[in-house]
Parts: sequence; C-alpha cells; structure tokens
Amino acid sequence: MDLPIVGMPRRRADVTFTKWRTAVFVQGCFWHACPSHLHMPRHNSEWWRQKLRGNARRDEETDAHLTLIGWLPLRIWEHETVDGAVKRVAAALATRGHPRGLAISTWAPVSERATEGS
Ligand SMILES: [Zn+2]
Repeated sequence: MDLPIVGMPRRRADVTFTKWRTAVFVQGCFWHACPSHLHMPRHNSEWWRQKLRGNARRDEETDAHLTLIGWLPLRIWEHETVDGAVKRVAAALATRGHPRGLAISTWAPVSERATEGS
C-alpha cells in the first residue's frame, strides 16, 4: 500500500487506492508544519523554519503533481481522530465514485484491496 507516486519515484503515499486514484498521506504535525500545531523550536529557529517550510513545499508539489495526473491527494494530520480521518477518506472515495465510499465505517485497507477490481 506504500506505493511510489507515478512520476515522483522518491515520494510515497501512506495508503493508495489505485482504482479510485486517491492517495492518502498521514503526516505528523511537527514535520509537516500543521497550521494548528506549528511550533518552532527556539534553538536554531532559522534553520528549522527553512527545513519545515521546505517540507511543506514538498507536500504542495506532490499534491500539485498528483492533481495534474488525475489523482486526489488527501492529507490526514496526526492530530485528527481516527473516526474523523476515516470519514474524510470515505467521503473522498465517494467523490471518486467508490460505491461503498460513504458506507465505509472501519479502516480496512485489506478488504479494500480485496474488493478492488470487482
Ligand atoms: Zn496538528
């Protein structure tokens, strides 16, 4: 499920739904500069600012690339509840035409894979 992104072999999504062209990234609040929990370390703050800004820019580039090739990038923050995250993924899949998109109530990538292609 941890698949390289087409055209960007060094970047990976955490979960990909190939048939529905949806890539899910689960990202830490600190490393990806979550707007709700951004806190800059005091020591070497300029270095950290550049570093975290670079990470965020990479994420934006990846999303732009995915959108360009017809994929839907979805970013789940570390601070989100599992329930909330599952709902967001299900809603995103529903917009991609997934028949059970909105009905998915538990996080089950294995069964998702099993039904792909049916
Ligand atoms: Zn956060």
